[in-house]
Amino acid sequence: MTHTELSIEFFPPQTDEGAEKLRLARARLAQLKPAFFSVTYGAGGSTRERSFATVQEIAAEGHEAAPHLSCIGSTRAGIREILAEYAATGIRRIVALRGDLPSGAGAAGEFRYANELVEFIRSETGDRFSIEVAAYPEWHPQARSPRDDLLAFKRKVDAGANSAITQYFYNLDAYRHFVDEAHALGVAIPIIPGIMPITSFSRLARFSDACGAELPRWMRRKFESYGDDSDSIKAFGLDVVTELCQHLIAEGVPGLHFYSMNQAGPTCAIVERLGLK
Ligand code: FAD
Repeated sequence: MTHTELSIEFFPPQTDEGAEKLRLARARLAQLKPAFFSVTYGAGGSTRERSFATVQEIAAEGHEAAPHLSCIGSTRAGIREILAEYAATGIRRIVALRGDLPSGAGAAGEFRYANELVEFIRSETGDRFSIEVAAYPEWHPQARSPRDDLLAFKRKVDAGANSAITQYFYNLDAYRHFVDEAHALGVAIPIIPGIMPITSFSRLARFSDACGAELPRWMRRKFESYGDDSDSIKAFGLDVVTELCQHLIAEGVPGLHFYSMNQAGPTCAIVERLGLK
């Protein structure tokens, strides 16, 4: 079997207790030998200090840290400053995003779309950072059309992205189709599937509606049939996501990016079942 590289995403914890829990989770997840840990960044800089602190901790532990950077609501000067901070910390990889401002939030700043951020990072810092961008196999919820979304993705690649991470999905055909269409447009960078382990159905259903990821009917119905039986929900979730990863690996995906939700258990269980550990 070819080697499947793993990467694992965290959000910056809000409390000291959350930070301690994340340290423990990270120690377990580090045993999976991921290529990098990434850390999300709230649009408009809302988590700037916490994201930066988490990134620094990860780097200090000797792991590769990949900060996310969202540009909506930001100025060029502000982004320049953050890039300088990251460069000084020895960061080599950035996940470049547009982000979402809360509805009613004010000025959109000097960037409209993620391709402008990728362009800016390249023009300011050359090849210093490897740049990851987001991809949407089931299309971004605000996209005018699937074709427009695909072209928007290609613009990010043309602006200098090295690799892409997808929104999570449970429909393998959507991913296959997206990758085929991107290849047909000449996109040659790796498109790494984003994997969301399932531990709670109601939370996942809410989240999926908001970000435009489909929970297939057969899965929904099955989860609903378990009611409050959280053990059955977890067991079924583990089966479904492991099977999805098995198919992806069999198709030769270059990597898997886990949305860990700051928990070690679900990601470790999947990776162990896959025999990647
Ligand atoms: P873009 O690529 O700019 O696309 C946004 C929308 O605009 C799409 O609908 C696209 O089709 C459309 N579009 C692009 N260009 C044009 C144009 N020229 N004209 C008209 N329409 C256009 N959010 C955070 O706030 N922080 C994070 O850390 C974070 N991490 C993420 C990590 C991953 C792997 C993923 C998949 C998403 C993440 N997000 C994060 C969510 C992301 O910020 C949102 O999905 C956001 O709405 C879009 O960001 P983007 O970078 O994909 O935007």
